[in-house]
Amino acid sequence: MNEFDIIKIFFAPLAHHPGALNLKDDAAIFTIPAGNELVVTKDAMVSGVHFIGNESPESIARKLLRVNLSDLAAMGATPCYYFLALMLPATTPEHWIRSFASGLAADQKEYGITLMGGDTTHTTTGALALSLTAFGLVPEGQSLKRSGAKAGDAVYVSGTIGDAALGLQVAGGKLQVKGSGTLLQRYQLPQPRIALGQKLRGIANACMDISDGLMQDMEHIATSSGVGATLHQALIPLSMAARYAMETIENPWQTIVAGGDDYELLFTVPLHHISRLESITDVTVTRIGTMTEGKTIQLLDKHGEEMILARKGYRHF
Ligand code: ADP
Ligand code: MG
Repeated sequence: MNEFDIIKIFFAPLAHHPGALNLKDDAAIFTIPAGNELVVTKDAMVSGVHFIGNESPESIARKLLRVNLSDLAAMGATPCYYFLALMLPATTPEHWIRSFASGLAADQKEYGITLMGGDTTHTTTGALALSLTAFGLVPEGQSLKRSGAKAGDAVYVSGTIGDAALGLQVAGGKLQVKGSGTLLQRYQLPQPRIALGQKLRGIANACMDISDGLMQDMEHIATSSGVGATLHQALIPLSMAARYAMETIENPWQTIVAGGDDYELLFTVPLHHISRLESITDVTVTRIGTMTEGKTIQLLDKHGEEMILARKGYRHF
């Protein structure tokens, strides 16, 4: 199959918007509804770095899409379109691409989005590489940013923290406990908190999604806002499966607070908006600390002692 067949057979059926021109033209065309701004993000994934390589093509596709949707959620945006770039090793079988496209189709339905275009090339490096650009809409001036946190804000996270980092250990055969399947699922199939992100507009002072470890990402909000943060280990929400896993691994808190791939929202709320927070969301949100004056970012254990971490999160370089 050449790239024109790949586009026509597998990807044109995913391009529902008239402006995608059935992926038969050079580019796509769309207008932005009045009063809205476009929010655009791009994430790449490389076999051996972002996934192990033995995952199903469906789940690789859905993760690629969802990590981008999580970025849109973090900005308070409503996802609408995406563009896809595939750098495929020449040995990629047709059934792989078919399954990959079916994963995209499933999530297009789930999130009400459509493919608008992309690029398809082959790669000689041996590793499969993928990149996706997601577009979302947000009412003008209302997007959530990392830089708005104020000293005194309450710090919240959605869902539970650390499951995906533990799930990575399950995927690598290093961890096998009651609830392993749930952890693995949390690693392979993130749940972008889109509805929550939208509802946080006008409530949260700062927001981001946790992709590279809670502590490292907390530092991103604190630094860009020019404030500090104090978090409490005892308040960090954990799943049952994570609790089981933590009994069997060494230094579990290091994995929980500095492991990646949570794709939960981390956000700060001024105290006078906390009561509104409870009524807006069906996702569990948990207060884990407070933004502070100064520049220190600390995690306190149950005795109030600062916990020292070997590293705060994932880094590529
Ligand atoms: P060019 O010659 O400019 O590289 P292509 O032949 O790559 O053009 O692309 C033709 C059309 O197919 C364009 O609309 C492009 O956006 C779309 N397209 C190419 N690859 C993909 C892909 N993997 N997913 C979605 N659309 C794609
Ligand atoms: Mg092209």
